[in-house]
Amino acid sequence: MIELRNVSVVYPNGAEALKDVSLKINDGEFVFIVGGSGAGKSTLIKLLLKEISPNEGLVLVNGFNLNNLKKNKAHKLRRKIGFVFQDFKLINSMTAEENVAFVLRSIDAPVKWIRNRVPYVLSLVGLKDKVKRYPGELSGGEQQRVAMARALVNDPMLIIADEPTGNLDPTTSWEIIDLLQEINRCGTTVLMVTHEHEFVRHFGGRTIKINEGRVVFDDYI
Ligand code: ADP
Repeated sequence: MIELRNVSVVYPNGAEALKDVSLKINDGEFVFIVGGSGAGKSTLIKLLLKEISPNEGLVLVNGFNLNNLKKNKAHKLRRKIGFVFQDFKLINSMTAEENVAFVLRSIDAPVKWIRNRVPYVLSLVGLKDKVKRYPGELSGGEQQRVAMARALVNDPMLIIADEPTGNLDPTTSWEIIDLLQEINRCGTTVLMVTHEHEFVRHFGGRTIKINEGRVVFDDYI
């Protein structure tokens, strides 16, 4: 479902962010992407969303050959991808349920579907009793759960979690990774970018390490 073939990315200032990267991630996998600051992790994600195009090589996502996908059609691809960010990116003036419903409204989903789907995904992430709370009334872990409900609501094929535990204490972080793994067991592919080696060691699984733009490790640990 995700494939990079000999991909290189050079930014206009000459920075070589990815160098001859080839990798393949099948449907239903859970993959950790690790690497230090400046390794090329964000560049890899930007490629998958077609925010940028490779200078060389081929990028395939969910059956789309991104090299041939017009920039103005990229929203179709992004709709099938859910995101979870380090800083949650919730709208503070909206309740948990409004934050989740917002995604469906923006794609003109039927009102009845929104009414059923939103409480369902919020209960999946353990927030059944907090749907009317604003982000400011929720803990960091709970806010991240709202973000996960938002990522899930449109039934994505792929979830990209970019340092999802970066702002959370260790116990809450474990819970969030557990939840991501549970989502994965239900069939959604999950890519989790992290620099927390301890989590990777604990949970194990396929890990792709990037260093200075190259894949230097791709195996199960
Ligand atoms: P990571 O996410 O692993 O920290 P990035 O993908 O952001 O790494 O960056 C990889 C390399 O590309 C770094 O050397 C960085 O300085 C460079 N880079 C990233 N974004 C840009 C940009 N927009 N313009 C120029 N160079 C960039």
